[in-house]
Amino acid sequence: MPNSVKWLGHAACQVTTTGGCVILIDPWITGNPGCPVKKEDIGKVDIILVTHDHFDHMGTDIPDLVRATGAKVIGQPELVGILQEAGVPAENTVGMNIGGQVEVAGIKVTMTQAFHSATAGDAVGYIITLEDGKTIYHAGDTGIFASMELLGRIYSIDLALLPIGSVYVMDPLQAAYSLTLLKPGKVVPIHYGTFPVLVQDAGEFVKLAGEKAPGVPVEVLKPGQEIVI
Ligand SMILES: [Zn+2]
Repeated sequence: MPNSVKWLGHAACQVTTTGGCVILIDPWITGNPGCPVKKEDIGKVDIILVTHDHFDHMGTDIPDLVRATGAKVIGQPELVGILQEAGVPAENTVGMNIGGQVEVAGIKVTMTQAFHSATAGDAVGYIITLEDGKTIYHAGDTGIFASMELLGRIYSIDLALLPIGSVYVMDPLQAAYSLTLLKPGKVVPIHYGTFPVLVQDAGEFVKLAGEKAPGVPVEVLKPGQEIVI
């Protein structure tokens, strides 16, 4: 079985690895207008990664998901502290910070910078290295930044999950340019279409990515669709 990455709408993504590990990133399930599943239908989860504490990323389901699955939740210490107050047992949390790497269930997770606001701690992104070495970059919410080029040099990114919706995150032009820095094997645009104020579809991003980074295939998913890496 290849690794698969399913888009659950907005920034929420579900990775299932060749080794059977399930990783949820930014699990805004309940209340997410794009999410095709209910939290009860999520099933097995081993790792939950949270990029920052805004409602459209942290959501409200994490305590229930942890109770049902025993998953380990990874985030900045301040965010993890909020989750502990909300009932997530301390032994199910892993606090870390930008630049660090932790290994959970055979998956290597590196926290990266992101340029965005947060109530507790900083907004971040993640480099996720799967058991077979395949590498996913989830940028979180961010504008473009020059050290994306460093991330592209240090890590061989097979798949980038990039926000393109503008207003709160990169617009399609910045997201397209970021591909020239990150040099991923392919890209899936996320964080658009969810709110009326956001860019509503991936058309402009597809066009601009084709101009700025013609070597990077763009995979536009519908919520609930998945790709393999
Ligand atoms: Zn957001």
